[in-house]
Amino acid sequence: MLKRFFAYYRPHRGLFLLDFSAAVVSGLLELGFPMAVKLFVDELLPRQDWTLVVLAALGLFVVYLANTGLMVIVTYWGHKLGINIETEMRRRAFDHLQKLSFGYFDNQKTGHLIGRLTKDLEEIGEVAHHGPEDLFIAVMTLIGAFALMFAVNVELALITVVVAPVAAWMTSRYGGRMTRNWRELYGRVGSFNARIEENVGGIRVVQAFANEDHERRLFERDNDGYRATKLEAYRIIAASASLSYLSMRFTQVVVMLAGAYFVIQGSLTHGGFIGFLLLLGAFFRPLEKINSVIETYPKGVAGFRRYLEFMDTRPDIVDRPGAIDPGHLRGDIAFENVSFGYAAGKPPVLSGIDLSIRAGETVAFVGPSGAGKTTLCSLLPRFYEVSGGRVTIDGVDVRDMTLASLRSRIGVVQQDVFLFAGTIRENVAYGRLDATEEEIREATRRARLSEMIERLPDGLDTVIGERGVKLSGGQKQRLAIARMFLKNPPILILDEATSALDAETERAIQQSLAELARGRTTLIIAHRLTTIRDADRIVVVDRAGVVEQGRHQDLVVGDGVYRRLHDAQFADAMR
Ligand code: ADP
Ligand code: MG
Repeated sequence: MLKRFFAYYRPHRGLFLLDFSAAVVSGLLELGFPMAVKLFVDELLPRQDWTLVVLAALGLFVVYLANTGLMVIVTYWGHKLGINIETEMRRRAFDHLQKLSFGYFDNQKTGHLIGRLTKDLEEIGEVAHHGPEDLFIAVMTLIGAFALMFAVNVELALITVVVAPVAAWMTSRYGGRMTRNWRELYGRVGSFNARIEENVGGIRVVQAFANEDHERRLFERDNDGYRATKLEAYRIIAASASLSYLSMRFTQVVVMLAGAYFVIQGSLTHGGFIGFLLLLGAFFRPLEKINSVIETYPKGVAGFRRYLEFMDTRPDIVDRPGAIDPGHLRGDIAFENVSFGYAAGKPPVLSGIDLSIRAGETVAFVGPSGAGKTTLCSLLPRFYEVSGGRVTIDGVDVRDMTLASLRSRIGVVQQDVFLFAGTIRENVAYGRLDATEEEIREATRRARLSEMIERLPDGLDTVIGERGVKLSGGQKQRLAIARMFLKNPPILILDEATSALDAETERAIQQSLAELARGRTTLIIAHRLTTIRDADRIVVVDRAGVVEQGRHQDLVVGDGVYRRLHDAQFADAMR
C-alpha cells in the first residue's frame, strides 16, 4: 500500500524535495536553539560584554528569520504538494468512475461514491503533505535531541531514556485503534451522504406519501451512528493525548529534580541545566507531533484504503485487446444462443435466445413485465455482458468492437429520460457534443420541439431544472428524441419510450418516433400494442424466451400469446 501511495509523489519530486529539505533544515535550526542558550549562559554571560550579547541576540534573530522563510515554504509548498496529489487522485478516481459498468452501479449508493471522491481524498491530501514529512522530521528531531542530551549530560540523558519511551509507547498504542475507528467513521459519513442524496432525489415521493417522519427516523439512525463512532474517536484521542501529556510532564519533573541535584553537586553548569530542559522540550515536540499525526494519519490511511479498494474494482465490461472500430454499420443484428443472468448463482434471465434482425427492420418486443425485454436489448450496447452465446452486428461480435464505437452507433430512448440540470440546448447537444447551432435547431424541429421552444422566453437556453423537472413527460421524451436525431445512430432501441405518456401525447410522439426510426434498425419494446401494429415483425417474449414472432396481422388471427395479449388490451379499451 505504501508503495502505491508513494507512486503519487513521483511527479512532484521537485516540490517534495523542496518542502522536505526546508522542513529538515527548520527542524535542525530548532534543535540548535537549546545549544545556543547553553553557550549563551555558560560562555557569554560570565564575560559581561554587552556587545557580544547584542550580537548573539541579532544572530539568533537572523536564524529565526531564516526559519520563518522555511516555514512559509513548508506551509505553502508543502500543502501545494498535498493538493496536487489530491487533485491527481480525484482525477483518476473520476476517470475510473466513468468506466465502471452498469452492474457496478446497480449495487452502489450514490452518496457513498460521492464521499469517496470528496472527503476521502481530502484527508489523503492532508496526509500526503504531512505524513512522510512529519514522521521523518519527528524521528530526526527525536534522534537529534537525544544525541545532544547525551552530549550535555550523560546521567540526565540516561534518566530520560528510561522514562521517555513509556511516553512514546503510550502514544503509539492507540494508532491502530484510531485507523479502524476512522474507517468506520467514513463508512458512516458515506451512509448518511447516501441517505441525504436519496432523500433529496426522492423528496417529492417522500412528501407525497407524507413519510417525512419515517425518513427522519432513518436519518436519525445514521446520524446517531456517526455520533457514536466519532465520540469513540475522541475518547481514544482524549486517553492517548492526556496519557502522553502526563508522562511527558512527569519526565520533565524528574529531569528537573535530578538536574538540580547535579547542578548543586557541581557536575552540571547552569547553561547545561537550562539547555537540557530546552532539549527535553525539543524532544517532546516531535512526540506531540507524532500524536497529531496519529490523529490525521489514520484518517488518511483509511481514506487511502477505500480509495485503493475503489480503484481496484475492475470494470466488468472493457475493450478487448484488439477491439476494432467497425466503421460504417448497416445494422444487421443477431442474437446467437444468448444467455444472461444478472448475478451468478441466480437463475438466468435469458437463455438460448436466437434471433436475427435485418438492417433497417423494425422489430417490436412484447411480453409480460419482467420477461427480459429490456435485458435483451441492453446486451446489444454491452451495458451488460452475455454469459453465453454472442450478439453480433453486421456479423461482428459486439465484444470485438470498441465500446466507444459500438455505443456511438446505438441510440437508446427509455421510459424515464435522464436530463441534466442545464439548458435545453445542452441537453439536446448531449447527443453529439460538437453539433452546430443549425444542427441542434434541426434536431428539435424534427422532434417537434421547436414550437414549444419558441414560446419560452429563453428559447433553447431555458434551464430545465434537475433531471428536467420543469418539463412535462411528453416534452422530456421529445427532448430525448431530439438528442437521438442529433446522434443519428444506425441502430435504435426504444424501450417503452412512450409508455408513461397519455394516449394522446403518445400518438403525437409516435410520429416523431416513426420518423426517427426511418432508415435505422429499430428495436421497440412496447407495452401498448397499438403502438407496434406497423412493426415489420413482432417478437413475443416471456419467461421461456422467444415464444412467437411474425407480423401483427398474422399473429392476431393465430391462437398464441400475442392473440391473448391483444384481446385483453382490446377488451380493456372497449370497456
Ligand atoms: P422487462 O423489460 O421484460 O420488463 P427486464 O429485462 O427489465 O424485464 O427484467 C428481467 C428480469 O431481470 C426481472 O426479473 C428483473 O427483476 C431482473 N432485473 C432487471 N434489471 C436488473 C438488474 N439491474 N439487476 C438485477 N436484476 C435485474
Ligand atoms: Mg423493461
